[in-house]
Amino acid sequence: MNRTVIITGASKGIGADTAILFAEQGYNVVINYNTSRESALLLQRSLAESGHSVIALKANVANRLEFDLLVKETLYQFGHIDVLINNAGIAQQGLFTELSEYDWDKIMDVDLKGMFHTCQAVLPHMISRKSGTIINLSSVWGITGAACEVAYSAAKAGVIGLTKALAKEVGPSGITVNCIAPGVIDTNMNANVEIEDLNALVESTPVGRIGTTFEIAKTALFLASEGAEYITGQVISPNGGMVI
Ligand code: NAP
Repeated sequence: MNRTVIITGASKGIGADTAILFAEQGYNVVINYNTSRESALLLQRSLAESGHSVIALKANVANRLEFDLLVKETLYQFGHIDVLINNAGIAQQGLFTELSEYDWDKIMDVDLKGMFHTCQAVLPHMISRKSGTIINLSSVWGITGAACEVAYSAAKAGVIGLTKALAKEVGPSGITVNCIAPGVIDTNMNANVEIEDLNALVESTPVGRIGTTFEIAKTALFLASEGAEYITGQVISPNGGMVI
């Protein structure tokens, strides 16, 4: 029986390459998207044409009803959910003193409260099967904090707290919960970062480069694998040594 993974925010970036990697490993893959319908459908089509079992479903992770429907449709299509990868996220740079309450709420709603919705939506199913893996995307900024990204850093630190507490609560039900806290990865999320700032980040990274989406996808694949069954409540940070 194929395992099933739901990957939130899989229309591009880390999520899209995670979808490709898991599909290649034989998973049934749910590509969740919010606004990028075209990219999600394109990815779904190209994977399906290669013989993979993949569906693309729209849901805003900040909206419980939409995500509940996604879970219902996933169970209808595949019958079971083995892995949830909470990857959807947004970021915004700017001075804290100029951060609006609207933007603070927007970041919290997607980056942190989104995981409250998605975890609550899949857990009854996982608990009833006494099996499941949840992988949450945090960030090095959730560990160290980043100037001009206070809301993002706070949300991502919250993700680490959520991961650790939930791991303790659902471990006895056969479910592991872990966190990936990447360093700087080559995606659209960093498209607005000034080139000088990016260069400075590379200089402070011992391996001398930013990371790739597949490097994060492979970390997720490992955490979902049999070899990781004894790992829970942990924060794994693929960051090229930027934070040690
Ligand atoms: P990205 O290229 O900007 O992609 C973000 C993805 O999240 C998109 O697929 C987007 O979907 C989805 N998304 C955003 N809001 C959503 C919502 N409300 N509901 C559902 N999906 C939503 O970003 P990325 O760099 O791949 O980042 C992926 C994750 O890694 C994020 O959690 C990010 O914080 C984390 N991370 C990234 C880096 C980095 O340097 N790139 C470093 C550390 C951590 P639509 O386009 O369809 O709306």
